[in-house]
Amino acid sequence: MEVKHGFSGDDRQELLAKNIILTTVETVLSWARGNSLWPLTSGLACCAIEMMCAASGRFDLARFGYEVFRPSPRQADLLIAAGTLTWKMAPVLKRLYEQMPEPKYVIAMGSCANTGGPFADSYAVVPGVDYVIPVDVYIPGCPPRPEALIHGILQLKRKIQNPGVVKAIAHER
Ligand code: SF4
Repeated sequence: MEVKHGFSGDDRQELLAKNIILTTVETVLSWARGNSLWPLTSGLACCAIEMMCAASGRFDLARFGYEVFRPSPRQADLLIAAGTLTWKMAPVLKRLYEQMPEPKYVIAMGSCANTGGPFADSYAVVPGVDYVIPVDVYIPGCPPRPEALIHGILQLKRKIQNPGVVKAIAHER
């Protein structure tokens, strides 16, 4: 019996004509994950006000399917570190992150979360949340507007759905 490895262009056309689409489980899971992120309800400082605005009717984060902020880390897969992280708060943020199930993602929102912002030299402020937890997307600004957060989440979606795109984004800068 002849065993076929891969499909020719003609084979693909024939399958499409029969409404058959071939893909991988990983591709389908990544597509679903990228379109249904569940953010954790948590905020660190003033940037959290902008995060709340993003979920409001005016900016309507729900358009993209990300509205449902979860009250428990065990039901969330996106941690938005919005605001200033102090060394006193750092173990709490780390614990929240560790309680989230895999796969999980982190967005650092605002200058404070990225680098400590205006408090970078303070003895009390962590100079970037990536000192404590890994970060997938950084959003600059003090504070970033809700549109910037939405853009950041969409960049995260690109990253989840196509890991190869990370290189392309880096080249865009
Ligand atoms: S970046 Fe600016 S707005 Fe955001 S938490 Fe820091 S000081 Fe507040």
